[in-house]
Amino acid sequence: MRLYSHKNRAFHLSSLALEALPRIETDALREVNARQPEDCHAAEQGAISHAIPEYLELFRTYLDGAPAPSRAPVPDDVAARANNLKASAYFLDATIGGVCVLQDSDWLVAERPRHTHAFVYLIEFEREPAVGEPGDKWIRGSNAARGDLRATELAVILSGYLRAMGFAARGHAANTTLVDIEKLAVRAGVVRAQDGMLQAPYLKGGFRLGVVTTDYAMACDAPLAPEGVLEPSDPSIRMGMGGTRPEWWSDELAKRPLHLGRYPMEKIKRADEPTTLVLREEIRRVPKRGDFFKRAQAGDMGAKAQQEKSRFAMKHPYALGMAPLIQNMVPLQGTREPLQPTGIGGDLSDPQRNADAIKALGHFLGADFVGICIAEPWMYYSHDEVEGREIPAYHKYAVCMLIDQGFETMEGASGDDWISASQSMRAYLRGAEIAGVMAAHCRRMGYSARSHSNAHSEVIHNPTILMSGLGEVSRIGETILNPFIGPRSKSVVFTTDLPMTPDRPIAFNLQNFCDNCLKCARECPCNAITYGPKVMFNGYEIWKADVEKCTKYRVTQQKGSACGRCMKMCPWNREDTVEAERLTWLSIDHPELAKAIADLDDHQGNGARNPIKKWWFDLEMVNGVAMHPVAGINERDLSPDRGEKLAKAQKLAFFPPELQPRGGTTLNETVPVDREAGLAHYAEAETPAAARRRQARNST
Ligand code: SF4
Ligand code: SF4
Repeated sequence: MRLYSHKNRAFHLSSLALEALPRIETDALREVNARQPEDCHAAEQGAISHAIPEYLELFRTYLDGAPAPSRAPVPDDVAARANNLKASAYFLDATIGGVCVLQDSDWLVAERPRHTHAFVYLIEFEREPAVGEPGDKWIRGSNAARGDLRATELAVILSGYLRAMGFAARGHAANTTLVDIEKLAVRAGVVRAQDGMLQAPYLKGGFRLGVVTTDYAMACDAPLAPEGVLEPSDPSIRMGMGGTRPEWWSDELAKRPLHLGRYPMEKIKRADEPTTLVLREEIRRVPKRGDFFKRAQAGDMGAKAQQEKSRFAMKHPYALGMAPLIQNMVPLQGTREPLQPTGIGGDLSDPQRNADAIKALGHFLGADFVGICIAEPWMYYSHDEVEGREIPAYHKYAVCMLIDQGFETMEGASGDDWISASQSMRAYLRGAEIAGVMAAHCRRMGYSARSHSNAHSEVIHNPTILMSGLGEVSRIGETILNPFIGPRSKSVVFTTDLPMTPDRPIAFNLQNFCDNCLKCARECPCNAITYGPKVMFNGYEIWKADVEKCTKYRVTQQKGSACGRCMKMCPWNREDTVEAERLTWLSIDHPELAKAIADLDDHQGNGARNPIKKWWFDLEMVNGVAMHPVAGINERDLSPDRGEKLAKAQKLAFFPPELQPRGGTTLNETVPVDREAGLAHYAEAETPAAARRRQARNST
């Protein structure tokens, strides 16, 4: 945890104090040959690096393409453009970005596009397990492969973003580059050359580089001074005043074995059952066709929702840059049928060791939380929505992972403006990549495995999040809330036959907290989150949100792209400072303070937009061209006085299995949503107390 907040630090400046480094004029730079860092040790046969190439191959096919026919109304100010592209890269977890002008000698090929500028970015190596720690044989020696995959991912997204804005752009990363990446990285001030190796400021580990070349003019950075310091001794920088990464950051992290992850989940109380009732025997499996985004796609919610469904998540050119990867990873998701162990991957006879190794691997690849549960049959959808075929439950275990959607960007946003869908898509894409590679690794070892992403999933994620101990049911309803990042995550799952010891559900007093807090309900733009108590829904105790209202708003609202405003508003959506961590533990350990903590959150103005953090351009894709948003921009802050009025007006519907399209229904058939019946069902919902009494009677 940092000591100092970064609330006054613009996102494009990065998490490092790059502005404090001595630099030189580009003309004064002497040309030196230098290499990017490699792994310190060779990868074993069972290493994850062997599962990465098929993803790398896929990503490489989307590095280039035709730009949109017209240019977006972006600022002429070249500094604003550079800042925007740097922030776009930092949002995707690059650590350092820089810009330089392209020279003829930078090209490695004779036939070259007429690009004028290069944007260079750096992907840091992740820490590895020590020898003997869980996952060591799978992970050690795989950092360069991991970094190259991530650099290629960014090359696709950032070049796609520029092309969607009407500029020519091509991505370059390891073994697929048309330019001299190392030379450009030195000139763009991202790294410097010393003794034949590239060195990055502040970093203690290695890194890989990626480049986007383009005709999008941007302000250039100056090269780092060859003899200057790479870590200034200024105590305010060393301690991270102003919100930058302090000097001790990686040393503190290194004290925790990789499989435990960054957050102390091991300190959260565990229980055999979740804090909310789950009546397994009463849960009816539902078809994917009943998911409300699928219902919108099939026309169940009317023509406008059907029409907007195809574009609502990709209405911004940045999100559109992610589309090729999100959609095209689906064929790589994996197997359902049993496989035979191959002997690769070491001794897999200890399920606890396997579980810890899988967690280490998830954290290494970029997941923020990893949990494991039994993939019980009721967690699987019953039927697919394309052919209407039955989905049998196939794998025994589910590995569930959460990807943080990013505190800083959330701070700058209203939650339903033009960056909203990009926040979701980034997390979905990263999750699909991580789970896909992990499932491929399990298959290499001879265990059937299949990832379940937002683009294609055969399991319902929420029960796996709950049972694998990554969160509790919250008032937001369909969102399981984690103690350390609140509701600010997207999930991904992979199922497998690799034997692992499952985790147990967690209990951190969230039920009491949400009983004392209504902020998400008050700030939901369409009054879809209940002000009332929990109810029973298809075997689950839940604060049931009106998913029809929520989906309709997310799909059809015109002043932004999608919505995640409830996630932004929650008092558990906190910065990773020592002060915020203290508040988290007070929220957990002192249930009597719940209302005071929730009220304080409002009092401090949390949930209002922080304009310093707004880094994106407000743009809307219309007929393949990025333009000023046609209907404008949602610019919401806090509405402390509207709660009572909304509570009085609230009418909620829910749609249990009997009100959903039956199993076997495909997207070609329209089954209109029966809202009246949904309202009636909600009004008659069983209370959790009644369900508990019924359960007690049945068991005697
Ligand atoms: Fe937005 Fe839906 Fe959350 Fe309401 S419930 S704030 S519409 S995402
Ligand atoms: Fe619970 Fe309040 Fe967060 Fe809503 S905003 S999920 S009520 S803590």
